[in-house]
Amino acid sequence: MAKRVESPSSINTFKQCPRKYYYQYIEKLPTLPNIHQVRGNIAHSTLENFYEIDTSLFDENNYKIKFKEAGQKLLLFQWTQYKEKLDELGLSKDQERFYFEETMMMIMNWINHIIKDFTVLMERKKISIPEAFQQLTPIREQKFVSDHYSVQGFIDAIHHLEDEVHIIDYKTNSSFDFKDSIRLQLAIYSLLYFEKYGQTPSKVGIFFLRNKQKMIAVDEELLELAKKEITLIHLHTSSTEEIEDYKKKITPLCRWKTGQCDFYENCNPEEK
Ligand code: SF4
Repeated sequence: MAKRVESPSSINTFKQCPRKYYYQYIEKLPTLPNIHQVRGNIAHSTLENFYEIDTSLFDENNYKIKFKEAGQKLLLFQWTQYKEKLDELGLSKDQERFYFEETMMMIMNWINHIIKDFTVLMERKKISIPEAFQQLTPIREQKFVSDHYSVQGFIDAIHHLEDEVHIIDYKTNSSFDFKDSIRLQLAIYSLLYFEKYGQTPSKVGIFFLRNKQKMIAVDEELLELAKKEITLIHLHTSSTEEIEDYKKKITPLCRWKTGQCDFYENCNPEEK
């Protein structure tokens, strides 16, 4: 059986529950849209497009407010772009307003951090606003595909600093823990980057949009973690596509107070 092309999400899904992996990636049952996913996409599109803004009319007195205005306009624009998807969720007006305002708070939090970095860079290097903005602009949404490892991933932002490369993923999560699933995602990105460019990034991390950026150093141990988990999933998924070989892993992630696994009805986890 041919090797499947995995991703950090598919591998983490398999680790969370092999049966869920089966439904999502082998049987390809549709997943249900939810506000957290849609809002995550809106936030990602806003940040991706933020670096396209024209800073030629910004000056030292107005750049902080101009950055914030640009972020507000971009979020508003993206929110309307996703109107159809938001409508499908059937939220009440109050609920939609709540999520919009919460997302705006995240974008403003992120922009405050950008302004801080931007101010330091301008003062240290004595460069113009457009130059500083250009130097802070990362490579965005880059797709990495490894034929060797049969894995792919999209990296949100790659920053080339003076002598370091930093890889960042944006998350709208309410938890700021560096869970195992996040560590594995970053390990796979590091491996993909290493394979493509022949050098490891210095650091990888998450920008938790409700909080701040958290980074870890990339070392041999992190790369080995990625290789080990990729090997393990291929061993399983390239040997069988039978549902009974993908065991149910019943945890609180099957059903919680306000929702349930996308495949709860198909799976019927209580049934042996
Ligand atoms: S309901 Fe639970 S056991 Fe069933 S697929 Fe989802 S996570 Fe796995």
